[in-house]
Amino acid sequence: MTDIRLYMFQTGSLKCKVHNIKMNQGNGADYEIPVPFFLLTHPDGHTLIDGGNAVETATDPKGYWGGITDVYWPVMREDQGCVAQLKKMGINPEDIRYVLQSHLHLDHTGAIGRFPNATHIVQRREYEYAFTPDWFAAGGYIRNDFDRPGLKWEFLEGEGNDFYDIYGDGTLKTVFTPGHSPGHQSILVTLPHSGSLLLTIDAAYTMDHWDEKALPGFMSSAVEAVRSVQKMHMLVSRTNAQVVTGHDPDAWPTFRHAPEYYD
Ligand SMILES: [Zn+2]
Repeated sequence: MTDIRLYMFQTGSLKCKVHNIKMNQGNGADYEIPVPFFLLTHPDGHTLIDGGNAVETATDPKGYWGGITDVYWPVMREDQGCVAQLKKMGINPEDIRYVLQSHLHLDHTGAIGRFPNATHIVQRREYEYAFTPDWFAAGGYIRNDFDRPGLKWEFLEGEGNDFYDIYGDGTLKTVFTPGHSPGHQSILVTLPHSGSLLLTIDAAYTMDHWDEKALPGFMSSAVEAVRSVQKMHMLVSRTNAQVVTGHDPDAWPTFRHAPEYYD
């Protein structure tokens, strides 16, 4: 496959509470959020954008994720792992050139080390923080996912690498959006027919964050989180990008899901 296309997938969902996603909201009510990941096919080699949960989560959630499962419970089957879902579409692990990480939280790191030819692209600040998180953030990083021997990494340097153009043709750009985590980046995809889509990832979990009606239930900096949303608003006003929020049970079903695609 050499056409430029964006495919949307999910590795199941996470059961949590409303307040884990929308700060101080919900009065303890249950919530269930999708766990997306994305494939961009490209003639110069494909990119996986995040990878959802590690497939081990499907069979041994507590063993693999530990105590964080008391807050976020993964609902996932083994055939929902990213490698299995790509194989089902005829894409072999060897065909992935880049694994582009928005950040290194546990529900995004399922692709790392599973694609033998891939260069893993991440913000250096995020990578370093993942090894030395503060106490309140530590449960979100599963070292087994990203501390693997022999990985090829490409580190981006915050604002210095903002709007980094992965292929050099404008198709795939990173947008530095810290606040949810110290080195979070969102992804701007520009396609030949569908135009631009802004994958906010966790810089806007839901449209309530996007519309500045809620703060996220988890973040490393409220000020950075709010400013990153404003930065993305400016970007959308210039590019007319369609906004794809990160863990949004209301918006997510409205998008085309693999095997359907945007081109
Ligand atoms: Zn996250």
